Amino acid sequence: MRIVVPAGGIGGARFLRGLKAALGTDAPASEEQTTNPSITVIGNTGDDITLFGLRICPDLDTVMYTLGGGIDEDRGWGRKDESFTVKEELAAYGMKPTWFGLGDRDTATHIVRAQMIAARFPLSAVTEALCDRWQPGVRLLPMTDDQVETHVVVEEEGRTRAIHFQEWWIKHRAELPARQFVSVGAESAKPAPGVLDAIAQADAVILPPSNPVVSVGSVFQVPGIREAMAEKTVVGVSPIIGGAPVRGMADACLSAIGVETDAGAVAEHLGADLLDGWLVDEADAGTEVEGVEVRSRPLYMSDPDSTEALARAAVDLAVELSEARA
Ligand code: GDP
Ligand code: CA
Repeated sequence: MRIVVPAGGIGGARFLRGLKAALGTDAPASEEQTTNPSITVIGNTGDDITLFGLRICPDLDTVMYTLGGGIDEDRGWGRKDESFTVKEELAAYGMKPTWFGLGDRDTATHIVRAQMIAARFPLSAVTEALCDRWQPGVRLLPMTDDQVETHVVVEEEGRTRAIHFQEWWIKHRAELPARQFVSVGAESAKPAPGVLDAIAQADAVILPPSNPVVSVGSVFQVPGIREAMAEKTVVGVSPIIGGAPVRGMADACLSAIGVETDAGAVAEHLGADLLDGWLVDEADAGTEVEGVEVRSRPLYMSDPDSTEALARAAVDLAVELSEARA
């Protein structure tokens, strides 16, 4: 079975760990298993930012580290056994910003990336090279090799201005009222090599519980990706349970675009032309979305077993709905 997953950072990466287990791609790779079943991840690069001369790709790295066993499990981002000496030294030079946490081990990843970018390798090639070390067990593709950055239009002391998503998310903790999200550069961006082929060859697309506005939403801003996915059987997992995000500040993103923080409202926002199936938590049982098959299942990824069960439920629903389409 070939599955494509557009993913953000933490929620996407944790779900992917369960999906690998559910599909049995966790087992030692045999000749056959490397091709079937397979998972292609289309990573959000809208969160990417250049700081200290380094191109930083938070969501790609979170997926890579999480699936490759290098993640700090408690924080959910960055390397485990991390130290922050480089960060302190940069601050001592007065380098700004000071709000971004780039650890020492993580810095090595960024030096590799910076060097390859300076040698004019596209981001997809850089990502592949980094994954050679981490062996995430999925094919990890950036949504695009072009520069697309999510900016947030905010209002502060009566002034309207646009800031980078990372500044809004990390420095302001999403507390500055957001008026709009703009994917700068998206109109002219092309899907990265392999993205449209992977979608065309997929048996199903599964939307993990990633931020529907700034993670999955950014992937959909790259022309052609959402359209290609809409041709497929698409099953999504709600990131909203009982009217609240499980972690993070997705509610601030949803209210900025006028969508209620509610499992059904998020499905409607994603669109019945895209979604065939939608998994909501048992707390949201009874949710109805016109044109979408809604099922309730436990959606908390509290441990490996519950995460695998959730991923299996998404796969099962996708199989059932594709058989119904055939
Ligand atoms: P980010 O890039 O780090 O923000 O991570 P994502 O884009 O993947 O988004 C995180 C989203 O996943 C948030 O909206 C959370 O509500 C959701 N999430 C996190 N943990 C869980 C969980 O255990 N279950 C479900 N259903 N959603 C979760
Ligand atoms: Ca993210």
